[in-house]
Amino acid sequence: MKRSDQPAMLHPIRICLTCPPVIQSNGAAEDRQRNGLPAGLPRLSSKLAAVNALQGRSAPQHRSALANYAISISLMSAPQIQDWHKRLLIGLSNFQKNVYPQKQAEYQRLVREGQRPHTLFITCADSRIDPELLTQSGPGEIFVSRNIGNLVPAYGELVGGVSALVEYSVAALQVDQVVVCGHTDCGAMKALVHPEHVEKLPTVKRWLRNAEAALSTVQARGKTNDEASTLEELIEENVLLQMSHLRTHPTIAGRLAQKSLAIYGWVYDIGHGQVRMFDDQQQRFLTFDGSDPELQASSGIS
Ligand SMILES: [Zn+2]
Repeated sequence: MKRSDQPAMLHPIRICLTCPPVIQSNGAAEDRQRNGLPAGLPRLSSKLAAVNALQGRSAPQHRSALANYAISISLMSAPQIQDWHKRLLIGLSNFQKNVYPQKQAEYQRLVREGQRPHTLFITCADSRIDPELLTQSGPGEIFVSRNIGNLVPAYGELVGGVSALVEYSVAALQVDQVVVCGHTDCGAMKALVHPEHVEKLPTVKRWLRNAEAALSTVQARGKTNDEASTLEELIEENVLLQMSHLRTHPTIAGRLAQKSLAIYGWVYDIGHGQVRMFDDQQQRFLTFDGSDPELQASSGIS
């Protein structure tokens, strides 16, 4: 998250008459100007207590936005290592005060009944991806596996966290579907094209072998000359490769044979909020247009 992206979130607060600017300016005006903040905004103290006071005296519907406001101000005014921990604490405080109380009964039910996620969602560890936000899923709904490049080692290749997670979610939790979700601007896929990027990262380099067949396929096909198109094709091909790796896992193969499990391939376009989904009938990725989720849910089953 770039700090310069934050001020856009501030305007709804500024015009709200029910949220008094309780934290008065205690910083230099030029600091605020340098950080791109609207001139009329008060500057928050960087203390967590100040944020709590601000939240406590503001309209309930604005408290979450106020927390973001506080975060952006505190980070923009003095970015130090402890500020990043403070960023987490402010978020945690907001969760405990404003989010958890609204979902308390749901969380307690999930503890009583245990989890029964419907989906195993495998995606990249890239911090710009938020699977729950993207799919609007609540707690207990999706079992998420994240790693560099959204990779799934073929069965027997590597006994590790991803293979154990696949087995557990499919055989024990009995998820109904698996989604492999790649994404645009993926650093892992770029590193496949430019192995020199990971020359000094031997563990990452070794991990990326799980995607090498996708690069070979794209290069052998030779459809694209420019790097951006190659990367786009590679991102899609890697999703298909990991879907095929999934099918080598006995737990997956068994459930597929029973027709009690579906596998889907997605590519999330971070900059545009779009998702391309692999269509099994057309054998290509198609952009999900959002107009008819019920109809589109019936296609693309692999
Ligand atoms: Zn990535």
